[in-house]
Parts: sequence; C-alpha cells; structure tokens
Amino acid sequence: MTSELKHHWQPAEQQRHAVAGPLPGGKQHGAGERLDTLCGRRVVAAASNELNWLWPTCDSCMEVAKERVGATT
Ligand SMILES: [Zn+2]
Repeated sequence: MTSELKHHWQPAEQQRHAVAGPLPGGKQHGAGERLDTLCGRRVVAAASNELNWLWPTCDSCMEVAKERVGATT
C-alpha cells in the first residue's frame, strides 16, 4: 500500500521546509531553485547533502504538513 505524497521536504536557507506535491520527476531540487513552501515563504533550495538534512525542521511547515496528512496532534 502506498500513500500519495502530499508534500516533500527540502533543505533551504538553514532549515528543512516542506513543499507541496511530490518531487517533480522524483528528483531532488537543484541548488538555487526557488520554491514555495508550506509555511508560505519563497525560499532558495540548497543542494541536498548529508549535512543540510540535519538542519532543523521548519516548525510552520511541520504544522501544515501534519494537517495535510490528517494528523490530529
Ligand atoms: Zn517552512
């Protein structure tokens, strides 16, 4: 059973933000790409690497992401 991907996470501007929808083509965003995040910001994507996946998660994105997947807490 697969669940539809409603959003994906992307390191950008020292945080991990969520972006609506599945990754286009299943690929990573490139560094410098402008993305509209779930928290309503427009950020510049960072290239994904081991380090920036450790950046803190954007709290605002997390709140919206929880609602989108139907979490109650
Ligand atoms: Zn965010």
